[in-house]
Amino acid sequence: MKRIISAATALVLTLGLTSCARVDPDKAQESVQVIAMDTAMVISTYGRHSTRAAYASEDCIRALEDVLSRTREDSAVSCLNEAGTLELGELGEELIPLLNAAERYRAETGGAFDITVAPVVSAWGFTAETFRVPGGAELEKLLDLVDGSAVRLEDRTVSLAPGQSIDLGGIAKGYAADRLTDVFRENEVPRALATLGGNVLTWGDRPDGTPWRVGVKDPARPDDQSAFVGILELTNAFAVTSGGYQRYFEENGKTYHHIIDPATGYPADNGLTSVTVVAAADTGEIPGNGTMCDAYSTALFVMGEEEALDFWRERRADFDLVLVTADGRVVVTAGLAGAFAPDEESGYAFETVS
Ligand code: AMP
Ligand code: MG
Repeated sequence: MKRIISAATALVLTLGLTSCARVDPDKAQESVQVIAMDTAMVISTYGRHSTRAAYASEDCIRALEDVLSRTREDSAVSCLNEAGTLELGELGEELIPLLNAAERYRAETGGAFDITVAPVVSAWGFTAETFRVPGGAELEKLLDLVDGSAVRLEDRTVSLAPGQSIDLGGIAKGYAADRLTDVFRENEVPRALATLGGNVLTWGDRPDGTPWRVGVKDPARPDDQSAFVGILELTNAFAVTSGGYQRYFEENGKTYHHIIDPATGYPADNGLTSVTVVAAADTGEIPGNGTMCDAYSTALFVMGEEEALDFWRERRADFDLVLVTADGRVVVTAGLAGAFAPDEESGYAFETVS
């Protein structure tokens, strides 16, 4: 028995030594999986501090969720929603940049993105997963509460109008991706790939020097993990997708999804089945383009194709788009022309717009 153990120990040691001798510390790699913000996240980091960076990434996401979650009773957001007002302590401080960003994107998108849509999201059962179709009169009443401009942030105190609540689900993962760029910088991570649900961050390039490959899912085939309308080849970029296929329920043969049009109170139904927003990830700003891409993907899904493309044309230096339409087209904006490889077998018609 003793001999067997020593032989095994020797083998482990040999393997250990062999791997020590072979692995260049700059090529070390670590991955963490985090279940947070209602999604399964995978963060893969590279470089000599890859392990430290991966664990710091997980800590960063968990700390954010403690503040931003709507379903955790003791989160800062839950306390604010419950009391209608919140004095921001050390932890809640994270809410200040996010609330400011949310208000900026609400104003820019003409209210298509609005965190005070929360009571409507809850009425449809998306918060507690108690799905139901609310009546028209109920939605009418709840729509009176949807007005992000009524959220006040003064002297480190946030206040909502009576009856209002906020839902940061449309922006929190993008903000988390922004925060990860900070973690990567602090830990001198040369390359990383973070997949936070529909929010992807490609940091640097792949170990072989080529761009990261990010699939844009086919919204018509949500259960097929390998069904893509095309692949984006990206370096140092955020790619954030919003789509009705990501969260939905069915009742009496109809499908109801989780992105609510604040103008109607119903799931947005403006001809798009998914919106992917792509922007640079190395600007160093927090909140930065991760937050922007997340807010825009939700808002542009609500707007529909024409309004979304007008919005892009006014800001085309800042981001690019892949729109998938309900009538079977994939519309790619000019800046991505060289980075998007369509899947010609997917059955979609492809267009590039400028
Ligand atoms: P996303 O997946 O980023 O498009 O965000 C969708 C989530 O944001 C939903 O699950 C809701 O929690 C919330 N939400 C739904 N509709 C809106 C909206 N119009 N504006 C802001 N947040 C929304
Ligand atoms: Mg979003």
